[in-house]
Amino acid sequence: MDDYQLLIDLHKNAERQGPGGELETQLALNLSRIDKTAPLKIADIGCGTGASTLVLAEQLNAQITAVDFLQDFLDVLADRAKKQGLAENISPLCCSMENLPFNDAEFDIIWSEGAIYNIGFEKGIKDWYRYLKPGGLLVVSEITWLTNSRPAEIQEHWEVEYPEIDVASAKIALLEQNGYSPIGYFILPEHCWLENYYQPMQARFQDFLNRNNNCEEAQGIVEMETHEIRLYEQYKANYSYGVYIAKKLNS
Ligand code: SAH
Repeated sequence: MDDYQLLIDLHKNAERQGPGGELETQLALNLSRIDKTAPLKIADIGCGTGASTLVLAEQLNAQITAVDFLQDFLDVLADRAKKQGLAENISPLCCSMENLPFNDAEFDIIWSEGAIYNIGFEKGIKDWYRYLKPGGLLVVSEITWLTNSRPAEIQEHWEVEYPEIDVASAKIALLEQNGYSPIGYFILPEHCWLENYYQPMQARFQDFLNRNNNCEEAQGIVEMETHEIRLYEQYKANYSYGVYIAKKLNS
């Protein structure tokens, strides 16, 4: 199995593939002041196995296109949706977020949790703009500095992993410069990282290693994730995901 298949193997049986939480998805919905009874068309981009998709489908009167480029994750999502009686509201779509087959002004809401970094925040908000109706909403979580200066170790780590990491004011300015009006922002609290994401992952490590004959590549992935968790625990005062809610302007 190559590294990619191993990563899928480690993450596909998880409720989520990145930091977040059901309550936080709901908080973003509340801040958006969306009319929950209105019929809505939503794209959930980089949906993974559907952590946010299922909350949105359950809370809203929506048709949701759930986009991910990994079919394995979408299969799990389809199964979860069926079990929760939400299959009719969710259409899984296997494609890259860089090359979406959508029409202009097709969606009331574009939602994306823990995923836009894959193409970069600036490119993502620019590319996806045209798929939103005027007045439509963008809800996106993005890794964000919480402090204006940081210890060298964490600064260097993120400069390599994701040089676009920045403070919230810079992300909000980018939204303003690209035709959006920011209407809400909050940061994901610690439990979204530890209880909801890292601890369930740590609980899967041993089975993952056993399943993959303790091979070097699988051990490498566990080491990499363990390093990431150690950094978070040490430097969590300095970064988190920010959740940004913004409205597409009318012209
Ligand atoms: N929103 C989910 C998953 C976040 S992890 C959650 O919060 O749990 C990021 C997701 O983006 C993964 O499922 C990954 O497969 C997907 N992804 C990464 N690059 C992508 C791309 N270029 N196009 C579409 N999906 C992508």
